[in-house]
Amino acid sequence: MNVAELEQQVKQKLPSIGPNKLRELVRLVYEIAKREQMDPRELLPVEEKLTFEAVKKKLLKRRYPATFKTAAKNQFYLPKLELDPSRRADLTPRPFYPKTVYIETAVTDSELAARVRAAFPKADFKETDGKTQVGSDNFSRRTETLFIHREKYDFLKPCPCSCGSAGCGYNLINLGFGCRFECEYCFLQQYQNLHAVLLPANIDEFLEKLAVGKFNKGLFDRPRIGSGEFTDSLVFDDLTQYSQKLVPFFRERPQWQFEFKTKSTNIGGLLQVGGCENVVVSWSVNSSKITDRAEHFTPDLTARLAAACEVAKAGYRLGFHFDPVVIYDGYQPDYVRTIQQMADTLPPDKIAWISVGTLRFSRELKKQIETRFPENFILDGEFLLDFDGKMRYDTAQRQEVYRFLVPLLRKTFPQTQVYLCMEDPAVTRSFL
Ligand code: SF4
Repeated sequence: MNVAELEQQVKQKLPSIGPNKLRELVRLVYEIAKREQMDPRELLPVEEKLTFEAVKKKLLKRRYPATFKTAAKNQFYLPKLELDPSRRADLTPRPFYPKTVYIETAVTDSELAARVRAAFPKADFKETDGKTQVGSDNFSRRTETLFIHREKYDFLKPCPCSCGSAGCGYNLINLGFGCRFECEYCFLQQYQNLHAVLLPANIDEFLEKLAVGKFNKGLFDRPRIGSGEFTDSLVFDDLTQYSQKLVPFFRERPQWQFEFKTKSTNIGGLLQVGGCENVVVSWSVNSSKITDRAEHFTPDLTARLAAACEVAKAGYRLGFHFDPVVIYDGYQPDYVRTIQQMADTLPPDKIAWISVGTLRFSRELKKQIETRFPENFILDGEFLLDFDGKMRYDTAQRQEVYRFLVPLLRKTFPQTQVYLCMEDPAVTRSFL
């Protein structure tokens, strides 16, 4: 669908409409026509004589059938529609092979730099003082540039969670920035302003900071520390070999738990270094419709669970994150199938925790998703501006998800801690 054509159609219906009203109606027509896979012209028959207010009300009712009556007017977010075809995600399957590799002078002799030189002999290698701007102007081309650097400041921090949400006391180390998977909901699309993959070569400095860290244990028996905020924890592990240093480090510190969060099956390093009770390897899991259609380039659910079984056999504990849960027609039976597949496959006594969180995103991310993945279905649900300024399903819809999933998970995996991620404290309390 073309934005200019949509504007033309709305103007035909309401010729004297101003720019703000035009923006709102174009947005509504676009979202309805996309979700219902219909010709947008059918939504605005020219012969029907209606005012702007009447047209808007009619379209809002159709776009938000479950929440139109209960949502406050200012919860509907109707920004300008800007579909830029040059920003579409490139979903052509390809191996990770950067065209240009920048290595910061301070780490040019590091083990990681040596491995990268051996892995990508055809890449153009450049040494940099770390001040030069690297990367593409287009997020979709971020994997063309790899930057091996020395991290100086951003080692450890408490998880920022989401403003006003109930935190779980998580702690983060930033081992990498950028990912080669293309999950349609990934917040990096909007957050990452340096369009490259950044990997720190000074893992030993991270471990020095960790060794003297003071951590909050939150909801859990021991503090949890993880590395999967700005990248997938294992997607580059064959290259970085961070697992080779992290696992022995945490093996000596059983008072803490470390979590690798991944969708990958890149577990060779973990198997090589051997299992460890206080290292939890967590997979993001979802209905097959989401893993197959919205998490591009990632291994499917069966492959993720097979990898989980292997690391459990090696002595690691497991974690799973049903995040983001997406509501669509028939979503419940699909999620039941995923849980059944987990129950049929996994050793239940090895599962340390399972989190559940519904799809949420910032306003800016919504626009990124629709321009990068114009055929997405994940935005077709009824998202409203919510307590933390993010777009979420309304409280009733989220509670429906949790009332369905949380008891089912607790019944299926009775030894496992099941908790909600980034939720309104009032909603979280009712599922503790
Ligand atoms: S695996 Fe995580 S970091 Fe990578 S694209 Fe998906 S959501 Fe983003």
